[in-house]
Amino acid sequence: MTTTMTSTPTTTKYLQQPGRHLIGGELVASASGETFDVLNPATEECVGSVAKAGQYEVDAAVSAARRAFDDGRWSTLAPAQREASLHKLADLIAAHAQDFINQDVLENGMPLPFAEWELAKAEGVLRYFAGWPTKLYGQVNPVAPPLFSYSLRQPIGVCAGITPWNAPVANPIVKIAPALAFGNTVVIKPAEQTPLAGALIAELCLEAGIPDGVVNIIHGPGDVGAALVAHPEVDKIAFTGSTATGKRIQAKAAETLKRVTLELGGKSPNLIFADADLEAAIPGALLGAFSNSGQICFAGTRLFVERPIHDTVVDALVGASQQMTVGSGFDPAVQLGPLVSDEQLARVLNYIERGQAEGAELAIGGARLGERGYFVPPTVFSGATNAMTIARDEIFGPVITVIPFDDERDALKQANDSDYGLGAGIWTRDVSRAHRVAEAIRSGVVWVNTYGDMADSVPFGGFKQSGLGREFGESAAHAYTETKSVVMKL
Ligand code: NDP
Repeated sequence: MTTTMTSTPTTTKYLQQPGRHLIGGELVASASGETFDVLNPATEECVGSVAKAGQYEVDAAVSAARRAFDDGRWSTLAPAQREASLHKLADLIAAHAQDFINQDVLENGMPLPFAEWELAKAEGVLRYFAGWPTKLYGQVNPVAPPLFSYSLRQPIGVCAGITPWNAPVANPIVKIAPALAFGNTVVIKPAEQTPLAGALIAELCLEAGIPDGVVNIIHGPGDVGAALVAHPEVDKIAFTGSTATGKRIQAKAAETLKRVTLELGGKSPNLIFADADLEAAIPGALLGAFSNSGQICFAGTRLFVERPIHDTVVDALVGASQQMTVGSGFDPAVQLGPLVSDEQLARVLNYIERGQAEGAELAIGGARLGERGYFVPPTVFSGATNAMTIARDEIFGPVITVIPFDDERDALKQANDSDYGLGAGIWTRDVSRAHRVAEAIRSGVVWVNTYGDMADSVPFGGFKQSGLGREFGESAAHAYTETKSVVMKL
């Protein structure tokens, strides 16, 4: 394993002037004057700061979004105009790609290729949803004369998007794009660890000419998110993050019966059968678990391997992990950047300790790298069972737990024995088995002979405690609209 520590540039423009909230079409500081710092997880140095919202900003942002929704300045625009606005924002994001990518590496630590991927994702999501306003239809319902009935798809209203730090640009855009496409207005609260992307998106929303109050972005800690969830004028919550926070949000949102979509955690099983093409399965398993240092909701962290090839697979994982480079995301040779925060570092190291204490064998990795920056190397546990804590809890770090299985039945039983159900992988040359297992696995997405490939047209979300509702594709039309039925007597 190699480590490198090059890092350029060293700060963002938000070191000179803190990033501001976007409220009602204006970039504003907090009424309290408070700000908070953003740290580079590779160096632990401050790279910028943003305004810190309180209840005043929450109320102002929700009121602005409410006014913009209620007076129809967005929802009654011609669909083609909404389409053009979303494309304009996509154009501006593409034009500022390098700024976003640099910021991503500085505030999140991710390697450059992942930052490039998430930037392309953000632009793509905007363009995908830009196509929807002109293609959303209602329907005529089959009723007997003299009745005539039709159903309309109408926007829900004010949507609050609360997002985590693992994709600082794409996460807010995944909430903004469908909400706007279907005529809603939004208030976004990005993660406090990575707010700089949101600050830049706010500036570009203004430049794109999106009408005042249609997009509002406010920065702050978790209680800002909680205040949005509690706010009576918010109609829908779209949340991505941990299952624990998702449960709190659902409970609170129930008081006002807000619409809720929750994209939550996972402990996704990745199944390698003895007939698999290991040349594809090994790199696929590594990519599926170690991308973004394992800080991905659908990371394939429970690697089930058919017993006859168990040792071969573990040896191959160890060998490939030894070749991986850990270090600053700016170094093009790096595959694993730092974890996002000292809190995340402590959490991951704690799970690694628990894995060892519960009897799993540490095949490689497991200790912090260096004393500055939150670096953890690729870590592989073998000899594990599905009952161990490292196989039950979402760790959100570069940790694979390898678990043997005896046959297809055993693989399925263990794979489905989890509180979560977000992603799953199957590696086999047997097409009948691929279909059988894909059908029987209880998760929102199943990949066969690949892992993590996605498209904006593919519905995404979780079974069980991995979430509620689906984003992307046509599912997003259901998640961001209400159905209104009209029945007339002719
Ligand atoms: P959280 O789920 O707590 O945070 C996600 C977002 O929710 C952030 O914007 C956060 O604000 C906000 N938030 C926090 N508390 C509340 C609340 N009560 N009401 C409304 N919004 C709230 O995740 P963490 O960042 O704390 O990470 C902890 C763990 O969660 C990770 O180790 C990982 O296991 C998991 N996680 C999973 C993700 C996934 O995609 N599956 C993504 C991120 C984390 P703030 O910025 O202040 O935290």
